[in-house]
Amino acid sequence: MNTFQQLGLEDHLLQAIKDLGFETPSEVQQKAIPTLLSEENDLVALAQTGTGKTAAFGFPMLQKIDVNSRTTQGLILSPTRELCLQITNEIKLYGKYCKGLNVTAIYGGASITEQAKNVKRGAQIIVATPGRMKDMISRRLVDISKIDYAVLDEADEMLNMGFFEDIKSILSHTPQEKSTWLFSATMPKEVSIIAKKFMVAPNEITVGSKNTGSKNVSHEFYLVGSRDRYAALKRLADAHPNIFSVIFCRTKRDTQKVAEKLIEDGYSAGALHGDLSQNQRDIVMKSFRNKQIQMLVATDVAARGIDVDDITHVINYQLPDEIETYTHRSGRTGRAGKTGVSMVIITKSEQRKIKTIEKIIQKGFVKKDIPDGMEICEVQLKALAHKIHDTEINHEIDPYLEEINLLFEESSKEELIKKFFSVEFTRFFNYYKKAKNLNSPSGKDSFLEKNQDDQSARFFINIGKKDGYDWMSMKDFLRDALQLGQDDVFKVDVKDSFSFFNTETVNMPKVLEFFSDFKQNGRYINVEITEKKERRGNRRFGNQKGGRSRRKDSFRSDGNGRRKERSRDNGGRSPRRSSDFKPQGNSSSRPRRNRRK
Ligand code: ADP
Ligand code: MG
Repeated sequence: MNTFQQLGLEDHLLQAIKDLGFETPSEVQQKAIPTLLSEENDLVALAQTGTGKTAAFGFPMLQKIDVNSRTTQGLILSPTRELCLQITNEIKLYGKYCKGLNVTAIYGGASITEQAKNVKRGAQIIVATPGRMKDMISRRLVDISKIDYAVLDEADEMLNMGFFEDIKSILSHTPQEKSTWLFSATMPKEVSIIAKKFMVAPNEITVGSKNTGSKNVSHEFYLVGSRDRYAALKRLADAHPNIFSVIFCRTKRDTQKVAEKLIEDGYSAGALHGDLSQNQRDIVMKSFRNKQIQMLVATDVAARGIDVDDITHVINYQLPDEIETYTHRSGRTGRAGKTGVSMVIITKSEQRKIKTIEKIIQKGFVKKDIPDGMEICEVQLKALAHKIHDTEINHEIDPYLEEINLLFEESSKEELIKKFFSVEFTRFFNYYKKAKNLNSPSGKDSFLEKNQDDQSARFFINIGKKDGYDWMSMKDFLRDALQLGQDDVFKVDVKDSFSFFNTETVNMPKVLEFFSDFKQNGRYINVEITEKKERRGNRRFGNQKGGRSRRKDSFRSDGNGRRKERSRDNGGRSPRRSSDFKPQGNSSSRPRRNRRK
C-alpha cells in the first residue's frame, strides 16, 4: 500500500492530508493506520523520531471519534510541553475539516483555569503532559472516565523523565475497555513493562531495523582531553562557518553554561532546557527556526521533537548516559533527504562507548582530528570570500563611496583584496596562531595525565549513596555548592555512606572553608583531604567495591599546563568578538535577548 486513500481514511481527512502536502504515507503510517482503523486492539509501535508517528495515531483517532459528542474520547500523553503543543497543532491540522472538533492541550507552566475552560467546551481529544494531567484529574477539572483511546507518545522518554507513577495514576481513571496505543522510538525494559502492565495482547509494529540511524547521517568522533571539550566545540564551530546545529549536553546546567559561554564568545547560540520558562523556550525555538540561532544547546528531553529539517550537524558535547539516546540525537540531522553529520566529542576513557554505539547503529564512526588553528583560518577566509562574492550590493552606501574611492585611488585590486581579507584573517590568525593541538593521543595514559595528580587534591566527604547521591548528583551538588565550573570537580566516587572527589589544588582552601560549617538536613557535612595516592578507594575505609569506576574514569582530566593552554583557546579574546565580521549567517539579528536566562 502506498497511498493514503488505500489506508482506509475518509475523504475529509484525505483532503487535509493533501493540504498538508503529504504525498505518501510513511512506513509507520502504512502499518499503523489500517490496523488502528479496523481493529480495537492495543498497539505498540516502535519507530524513530521524525517518522510521522503523530499522523499514524492522529488520523485513526480522528476518524474514530464522534465529533458530535462533547465527551472526551481520546487522551494523548506526551513528555514535554513542546511536544504537547506540537501534537495539538498537528491534530488540529489533520482535523481541519472535522466540523465541531475540539482538541485541547494540557501542560504545566500555563494557566490551569484557561485549560480547564477549554476542556469544558467539550474537548473530544486532550493532549497532555502527565504532570499537569494528574493535577487536573485530582482537581476534577477533566473527566477521562469515558475515553475510548489512550495514546502514550514517546513512551520511552516519558519513562526516562520519571512519569511512570503519573501515567499509572492517570490510566487508573480511564475505562478498562479503551484501546491503548503506545508509540516509542526505543524499547527499553521500562517500556515493555508498561506494555505488559497496561495493555492487552497488543499488536506490534516495528519500523526499520530497530534503533539504526538515518542513512544520511555520517558519524565522527573527536578525542580530546576532558578539559578541552569547550575549546574543541568552538573549533568545530569555527571550522564550519555555515553550521546550523543542535549541541547536546547531559545536564540542564551544562546546557545553560555552554550556551552562555558560546554567546559570550560571540557565537549565535541559545539554550533549550527544562529550567527555562515556556516563554523563554518559545523564543529560543523561534530564533532557531528562523536561523537567528546557529547553535542550539539542548538537553535530550528538551530537544525531543524539535522538528527542524535542515540541521547540518549534531554535536554530542557529552555522550548521553543511555547509549540508545544517541540515535535520537543523531536523528535530528540528515532529515528530509539531506545529509548530516553527527559529531561526538569524547575523552579517552569514553572511547569504548563508540564501539557500543557502532553496534547499535550498525554504522562505523570516523575518527577525526579537531582542526588546528591554520585550518580554521583558511576555512574562515574562504567562507568570507564566498560570502562577499555572493553579497548583494546595498546602494545605501553609494553616497559615501566617493570618499572611499579617493582613499584607495592608488591601490590595485590585488592590494585591496589582500588588505581587505587581512582584516579578518589577522584576527583569526592572532587568535589561533599559538593554539595548541587539542587532540588527545589515543594510546595509554600520557605522562601529562599521570602528573595531574600533583595538581589536584582528593577529598573525602561524609555523604554517599545512603543520602541519595550517585556520582552524577554528587558532582552536581559539589559544583553548585562550591560554585565551581563544569570540569572542576572530577573523579567523583560515591560509596554507601561517604564519597571521594577531586578538585584542583587551587580550589582546596575554598572546599575546606565551605564545608567547615555546612549543614544538610540538620547534619554537619565533613570534608577531609585524603592521601594523595588514593586512586581506587581509600584503604582507610576498608575494601570498597566501587563498581562504577568506568564512569569515574570519564572525569579523569588531562594535561599539565592545560590552564595556560586553556586561556588561549577559550579565555582569550575570541575571534568571534569583533563586530565587523561575523562569518556566521545572520549577524544583525543575533539573539542577545536570549542571553543569561
Ligand atoms: P515523530 O512523532 O515520529 O517524531 P512527527 O509525527 O512529528 O514524527 O512527524 C515529523 C514531520 O514529518 C512532521 O513535520 C510531519 O508533519 C511530517 N510528516 C508526517 N507524515 C508525513 C508524510 N506522510 N509525508 C510527509 N511529511 C510527513
Ligand atoms: Mg512524535
